[in-house]
Amino acid sequence: MKGFTTKAIHGIRSRQDPHGSLRMPVYDSVAFEHESAESLQSAFLGRKPAHIYSRITNPTVDEFEQKMRLLSGGAAALAVSSGMAAISNTLLALGGAGKNVVTSKYLFGNTLSLFEKTFSSWGLQVKYASMTSLAEVEAAIDGNTCAVYLESITNPQLEVADCTAISEITKSHGVPLILDNTVTTPYIFNSKRAGVDIEVLSSTKYISGGATSVGGVIIDNGNFDWRQSDKLRDKTGKFGQMAFIGNLRHEVYRNVGACLSPHNAYMQILGLETMALRIDKSCENALYIAGFLKEHPRVRSVHYPGLASSKFHEIARRQFGAKSGGLLTFDMQSQDKCFALMNALQVIRRATNINDNKTLILHPASTIFAEYSEEEKAVMAIRPTMLRLSVGIEDHEDLTEDLQRGLDSL
Ligand code: PLP
Repeated sequence: MKGFTTKAIHGIRSRQDPHGSLRMPVYDSVAFEHESAESLQSAFLGRKPAHIYSRITNPTVDEFEQKMRLLSGGAAALAVSSGMAAISNTLLALGGAGKNVVTSKYLFGNTLSLFEKTFSSWGLQVKYASMTSLAEVEAAIDGNTCAVYLESITNPQLEVADCTAISEITKSHGVPLILDNTVTTPYIFNSKRAGVDIEVLSSTKYISGGATSVGGVIIDNGNFDWRQSDKLRDKTGKFGQMAFIGNLRHEVYRNVGACLSPHNAYMQILGLETMALRIDKSCENALYIAGFLKEHPRVRSVHYPGLASSKFHEIARRQFGAKSGGLLTFDMQSQDKCFALMNALQVIRRATNINDNKTLILHPASTIFAEYSEEEKAVMAIRPTMLRLSVGIEDHEDLTEDLQRGLDSL
């Protein structure tokens, strides 16, 4: 099996279902019974792979994890309750007081808040560097750096950094490279090949198949030797090369308790089966709409890595091929014009999510970045004149007609 969709549909054949069900059922059960005290003991000690309690493992969640591992080409995958849980569990596993994470100011707002507000009060420092400047990234890394963290296409600045070049730097310093691959997913971007060590995903987005359920995934690509990590070195004795996911499963993730529900895992397994088809359509629509907006006189500027005019076009082509994701941003003359356009739309919906089947519009400065000052927003390139469009899979003529009608009414 080679194709992404074939693997997504048929890839994992777990144990034969007793009723011959073609679909992995939802195992909505908290606990799993064992035939003897010895069997329960072996399961607790990790000597035999068996389910005990659904906060740690669950058959439906396991099926989702195995599919994600297969589709990403990674060494191991762990599903969690949200994209934010994927990011926070990963940093909890690698960082701590006195350590630092090197990242960019161009990050999803809640990720930035997690680093700057939540983690910093526990002593994990954030060091900023532009991910498009290799010299800045290298200069920011020091002996206490526990990870370098970036997004494949930053949300909402749509910056694309050269992951392979950054991975060469992190490798030379023995520091793991973490990538949030939410907006590209393993279908568009194989982060393992680009040298990324850990991939985090919000499966709430493209994976969930139309905004059906919140979830997240952590993937260890198998590129990093965990003996180099201060925090995980002594776990390699027990878990070997699986030290990162093993330690998460048996300590951090187990103790934090942000597990994915079996029902959401089921929805996301279903979503994976059609994900490639939906991403193809969403990317096609995004390119078409970006071209349309670029020509409209009431639109000041359009930002989409798929446009030849984008300064990230070449690197996006190299890393992602012909698909540049479903997110684009454009600038109007003022915030008032942004609000007026949003209010005039009839097909495109006003909502804060991305990679839904529906096309969604958002004014980031007044919503997901509202907690930041004007100065902070300026540093993060969050302009009051900017609108973010998450392009769905509708017929593109209906989307451009809606935008045309809205723009003409201003
Ligand atoms: N990463 C990116 C790039 C996102 O856009 C989001 C949410 O929009 C998240 C992570 C967080 O995902 P979740 O809402 O599933 O926690």
